[in-house]
Formats: sequence, structure tokens, C-alpha cells
Amino acid sequence: MNFKDLQTKNKAWLQHNFPNNTPEQAALGLAEEVGELCHAILKISQGIRGDFDLHISEAKDAIGDITIFATSLCNIMKLDYNEIVTETANQVFSRDWVKYPFDGKTR
Ligand SMILES: [Mg+2]
Repeated sequence: MNFKDLQTKNKAWLQHNFPNNTPEQAALGLAEEVGELCHAILKISQGIRGDFDLHISEAKDAIGDITIFATSLCNIMKLDYNEIVTETANQVFSRDWVKYPFDGKTR
């Protein structure tokens, strides 16, 4: 699935299930999922509360949910997720931190 299809499907799903969803709810959901991802990575690092496979499964679920909540937030705020990710990726991938450790671009 590409980002445009994801946002289109998310919009229909959101309108059906959470028609009154707010930016705050989407942002809080996103933050909650980032917390779940951090929890999984922390427990892998600590080697507790389950094995590696369990925590990887939880991390994968959180990463997917982060993407869904980000797409929801874009739908609620009428932002183009694909455009945002493309612009950001182009900026990030244009930086060379090995060659230019100060600012990634010139020095
Ligand atoms: Mg979750």
C-alpha cells in the first residue's frame, strides 16, 4: 500500500468509526504508540518482560499504529501525508553527516 492509498482508506475508516475525531485525539494516539514502541525497545534492551520475539511483535504493531495515527492526524487537519513524507525524506536524504558533520550540507 502506498501513502496515498493509505490516507484514502484511513479517511473512510475514520469517518465511519470516529467521525468526531480531533487533532488532539490523533496526536495523543500517536504519542501513545510512540510510548509503546519505546516500551518494546526498552524491554528488549533490558532482556525482561518477555522474549525478543514478543517485543519485536509489539514494536512492529506500534510502528504500524504510529503510521495510522499520523495519517489520521493528516486527514483531520487536511494535510497531504504523501507530500509531507516526500518533502521530509528529500530533505533528510540530501544530508551527508559523514562528509558534513556540522550541518549535513556544507560543513
Ligand atoms: Mg498500540
